[in-house]
Order: sequence, then C-alpha cells, then structure tokens
Amino acid sequence: MKEKNSSGSIRNGSELAALRDEITDFNLRILDLLNRRAGVVRQVREFKERHAMDMFSPSREKEMLDILVEANRGPFDDSAVRHLFREVFRTSLGMMESPGEKRLVVSRGAGCPDVVVRVGDREVGRAPIIIAGPCSVEDREQMDMVGGALSRLGVGFLRGGAFKPRTSPYSFQGLGEEGVLMLEEVGRRHGMATVSEVVDTRTVSLMAEHVDLLQVGSRNMANYELLKEVAGTGKPVLLKRGFAATLNEFMRAAEYLASAGNENLILCERGIRSFERETRFTLDLSAVPLLKSMCRLPVIVDVSHAAGRRDVIPALARAALAAGAHGVMIEVHPNPVLARSDSQQQLDLEQFEAFLDSVETFLKPSSQA
Ligand code: PEP
Ligand code: MN
Repeated sequence: MKEKNSSGSIRNGSELAALRDEITDFNLRILDLLNRRAGVVRQVREFKERHAMDMFSPSREKEMLDILVEANRGPFDDSAVRHLFREVFRTSLGMMESPGEKRLVVSRGAGCPDVVVRVGDREVGRAPIIIAGPCSVEDREQMDMVGGALSRLGVGFLRGGAFKPRTSPYSFQGLGEEGVLMLEEVGRRHGMATVSEVVDTRTVSLMAEHVDLLQVGSRNMANYELLKEVAGTGKPVLLKRGFAATLNEFMRAAEYLASAGNENLILCERGIRSFERETRFTLDLSAVPLLKSMCRLPVIVDVSHAAGRRDVIPALARAALAAGAHGVMIEVHPNPVLARSDSQQQLDLEQFEAFLDSVETFLKPSSQA
C-alpha cells in the first residue's frame, strides 16, 4: 500500500514536472515572439518619426483586436483575449512615447554613473564642498577681504553676484562686467574657483569667459532659452531650483542642459515659497534625498537664500549635510550691515568661522547619506 502510494506520487510528480516544462517552453516562445514584435514596433516608430506621423493610432488598435477575436478558438474567451492584447499594445505604446516623455538623461537608473562635476581641479559630488562669498560683488576691497579670509579657512569656491536679479528695479543691480572681472581677479589671487549668476542670454559668453561655475538663479530656472545658451558654453553649471518649482519641473530644467550635452551640472535647493513668514523661503530638505534618488547629479543647498536670516544658517547647513547634500552655499560679507543686497542673511567673517566649526563633523565624506 505504502509502496503503491509512493510510486503513484512519483508518477504524478514527473507528470506535473513535464507539464510545467511545457509551460516554461511556451513562456519562452511567447517572450521571444513579444520581443520580435517589439522590434517591429520600433521600426514603425522610426518610420512614423521620419514622416512626422502621430504615434498613437486607436483605429489600428481596434483593427488588430478585431482580427484577434475573430481568430480566437478558446479556451480564452473574447474578453480575455482583448484584455491580454491590450496589455501588449499598452506596453508597445510605451515604446512609442514622444521624446518628451522618454527617460531623462539626468535620471538615475539608465545605467549611467553618477555625475561628479569638475570645476577646474575641484570636484563636486564626492566630499561635501562649501561655496561662500558675498551676495553681490561691491568693490575690490570687499572681495579681497572675503576671498582672502575664505581661502585661509579652506573654502574652495568663491561666490559673488555681478548681475543681480532684484525684486525691485530700484535696488542695486550689481556691477555688471566690472564685477565679473573683480571676482575673477580675486578668485585667481586666492586660488579659488569662482561662482556667479548669469541672468541673460546676452551676457552668457562674457560670463563663460571669466567665471568657473555658471549659476542659473531661481528666477531663471524655467528660462529655457537661457538654459540652452548656457549649455552651449560647455562650462559647469549650478542650477537653482525655482522657488515655485516642483522637483519634477526642476529635473526637467536640468534636462535642458544635460540633453544639450552638458552634464556638468549641480542642482541647488534654495527654499520654496510657502505661507511661512519667519523665514524668507521654506527650505525643502526632502528635496535632497529625493533629487539624489531621482537624478545622477550632485545636489547642494543654499541655506542663506532659503532662510533670509543669519541665525538659523548653521542649523540648516548641518541638516542639509546630514540629509546627504554634496555641499552648501552660504553668503558671507566682511560687513553685512553695509551690504548692498541681502544684508539680513549674510554672515560676517567671524560668524562664518564659527559656522565652519559647527558644521565641521558634517563635512566629512563619511557623513554622506
Ligand atoms: C543668488 O544666489 O545670488 C541668488 C539670487 O539666489 P536665488 O536665485 O536662489 O534667489
Ligand atoms: Mn543674495
């Protein structure tokens, strides 16, 4: 009795294994056919692109389903056939997506490595960096004082706005070309890489000639013509998030540069507009891990423009670095009370030194999330 049972189950087992093998074989044949079908779909796509035709053709889909239902001999019923093939069509339609919807160059997961941006002999995207300097370039003495102090403290990047996008047309608009040249001179003297904002397509080539890292500011994140022009210079770019832009919009703005062949790109979270009035903007720290998981680009945080006040800057910088930022930007001025722009948020040199002490442990590469 026992033996019969056991030999019966062995027979059943081998019968089941044979059936399963048959199913596996069918799966492989279906997979092969689906992939061959996908190859033809790709050719259709290329043909349609060449002839500027619509990718989606509902009448063609109906025609194909009608043929399939007509040919169906079961055991699947007609609605199951429709369901199965709709999935096949939908997946193929994914391959027909317009270029605007395809996987972004900047996005993670396309198998491309993370971007490490090179600015001269410096790298952004590995150990955290600090970009510091005044909101605006005001005069040679101011720049030299701040550049000298920052370089002695080991800061590698000197910022300073020469073309200033101000809320009021009556506010200081920056020194323009004179300011750019001043920044360049001081940066060279102290061995620092320079960072300055380009606000306008007309001054892109001037900026590209004299500035090491071109900043596109929050107000211009969605100025696509400017982004294209900046991309064309091939210079490294620091792209700030628009203060009313979603992360998705921010990523797509970066894509304007990357798709034009300029992947030397750093993203900068700098606060978004919210109902809160204690700070100038609201620092969106979740942007740091989210952008890092969405994109291959380094992500830094400008704590000064986010806060608009100096007291919370060290805490925000520590939080940004703890969240995994590849660096922070801070405005520093030898005499913030006299600053011609953003005087409330700039640290003086003593405050900046204390700031550095307070973030020191977060600047170690090991603190990267
Ligand atoms: C700046 O960095 O000088 C500046 C104007 O910043 P944002 O574009 O973030 O406002
Ligand atoms: Mn500023």
